[in-house]
Amino acid sequence: MSDIIKLLPDAIANQIAAGEVVQRPASVVKELLENSVDAGSKQVTLIVKEAGKALVQVSDDGIGMSETDARMSFERHATSKIRSAEDLFSIRTKGFRGEALASIGAVAQVEMKTRNKDRELGTLLCVEGTQVKKQEHVAAPIGTSISVKNLFFNVPARRNFLKSNPVEMRHILDEFFRIALAHPEVGFSLYQNDLETYQLEGSKLSQRIVGLFGKNYREQLVPCQEETPHLAIQGYIGKPEFAKKTRGEQFFFINNRFIKNNYLNHAVSTAFEGLIADDQYPFYVLFITIDPKHVDVNVHPTKTEVKFDDERTIYGIVKSAVKQSLGANSVMPSLDFNTDVNFEAIARSGLNFDRQVLSSKAEMDYSSFKTTSPRDESNLRNWESLFSKAKSESDYNEEVHGKEAGIPSEETNDTIVIASSANNPEASIEEDKKSPSWQLHKRYILKQVKSGLMVMDQQFAHERILFERFSRQIKSKEGLSQQSLFPAHVELNPADFSLVMELQDEIKSLGFVFDVFGKNAIAIQGIPADVRETNEKVLFEGLIEQFKWNKETLSVDKQENISRALAKRSSIKPGHPLDQQEMNAMMDQLFACQQPNYTPDGKPTFVLLGLDKIANFFNR
Ligand code: ADP
Ligand code: MG
Repeated sequence: MSDIIKLLPDAIANQIAAGEVVQRPASVVKELLENSVDAGSKQVTLIVKEAGKALVQVSDDGIGMSETDARMSFERHATSKIRSAEDLFSIRTKGFRGEALASIGAVAQVEMKTRNKDRELGTLLCVEGTQVKKQEHVAAPIGTSISVKNLFFNVPARRNFLKSNPVEMRHILDEFFRIALAHPEVGFSLYQNDLETYQLEGSKLSQRIVGLFGKNYREQLVPCQEETPHLAIQGYIGKPEFAKKTRGEQFFFINNRFIKNNYLNHAVSTAFEGLIADDQYPFYVLFITIDPKHVDVNVHPTKTEVKFDDERTIYGIVKSAVKQSLGANSVMPSLDFNTDVNFEAIARSGLNFDRQVLSSKAEMDYSSFKTTSPRDESNLRNWESLFSKAKSESDYNEEVHGKEAGIPSEETNDTIVIASSANNPEASIEEDKKSPSWQLHKRYILKQVKSGLMVMDQQFAHERILFERFSRQIKSKEGLSQQSLFPAHVELNPADFSLVMELQDEIKSLGFVFDVFGKNAIAIQGIPADVRETNEKVLFEGLIEQFKWNKETLSVDKQENISRALAKRSSIKPGHPLDQQEMNAMMDQLFACQQPNYTPDGKPTFVLLGLDKIANFFNR
């Protein structure tokens, strides 16, 4: 029998190899964008048609290529990025295998126009299924533009296995986001079927995040930074209250390369422990810079997994960096003492409440806590422990009583001066109880605290309290109702009516009682017990309006949306007078919340005006 083993023709070998690199249009997007970044581009434009199945085009203003390099770039293992095996261990560019263009050229119709600064004319190169169909001189700007048409035109089996356009587009967006985040200094634009979807100017990371994820991320971002001899961490984490039900918005970059690593992801989750529910995922974009020799990125051409030689150290550093930045920005629940880091955070942010605030709890009406969850009770206990902790601190008396003594007791229209009832170092808890709260312009609640003066926004505080209450009630379906004297009829347009039908379980679990009453109308018999608005129609319509508005501006699930909407609509507004008991109850309830510092949409609920700051006003 004659010999039967033969070398595969180049075209077939390339096609097989291409299978590793090019799995779907998003792989083409990734490779081309990375090449543009590697080429030092300042502005990169991505155009996709039919989710990349018809066209992926990337144009850049990078260094471009000479005629020979243009031709070479489509050869397998042709790269300008490494020259020796040692280089493999110090890679700082995105690409290095020299496989991408060869692979893409094997399974698509590719047209490349490129010019570098040394040439007057550029090169046009057309490659189709590995074969060079055309090469000529053309007028072209400095930089490179590559269009990849009809991906897998010659491999029908692969083409048929592509997913629907929305799914493929999602993959493309994932790649686009990863590269745009890794290179905020580079401008990126994205056109989808001629429609401009993103226009991102070169900027700082925070601006890039906002550009990609939306304006409401502005208030969510907490900087995270840490430097050790071993590695540096830099980036942003999202405040706990913005955590999502889906995992999507979590990004790790090692030496500017996006990676997936469950172990490091776990480090971040652990740092958030106790701040977010188990089924929620915090936002983060974190960059780890580490000597490349400690990282093995060369596991697989398209895989995003990496290996570290010392994973555990990195885990520890990431966890502590995230914890620290949560603490330093006082986004930890201020009264949670379960962990020592929290305590430091509070001490640093000056959130040491004095006896007056702590003891005011004693005289409040506890009925409002009847529906609280165990979580709230544990917060209350923490509050007590805060009190004992504060008392045991040696500087306690000095700080509380030393500087405050002598502040006159007086209130005028514009200035508030707080009377201190705690001048006596032996001030008993009994005495503290009498410490009043003030309402300023029927808008703010003022209270003396250990570090100075707390100014609380009554509306925002109430919104936070209601939001957490409604969220619990929706989950446990135990919202209480107040019965209306007469049913209120509410006519809705057909779209709103079907929305109400879709949301009726959630709406009812908050304490609304209603029936369908004719075409597109409902009759409301009861509203949530905690709500002050007595006009059922106004309340209900407002709730639906707010829900729709939230839906357009926020990416939260419908339970959270509806809790937020009702909290916003039914919170106490400026202009509403509050008596002592109401103010104290408000404060107590706020600090029993999981996240007392902010409204659900990230506005502060209170600020602290430290004694130092006040003293500064008087040049003391
Ligand atoms: P790799 O990026 O791994 O080197 P590629 O197949 O992606 O391999 O690219 C091959 C070579 O083509 C690169 O090393 C680079 O020299 C050149 N090249 C590719 N794209 C560009 C571009 N947009 N601008 C300049 N040079 C490029
Ligand atoms: Mg490349």
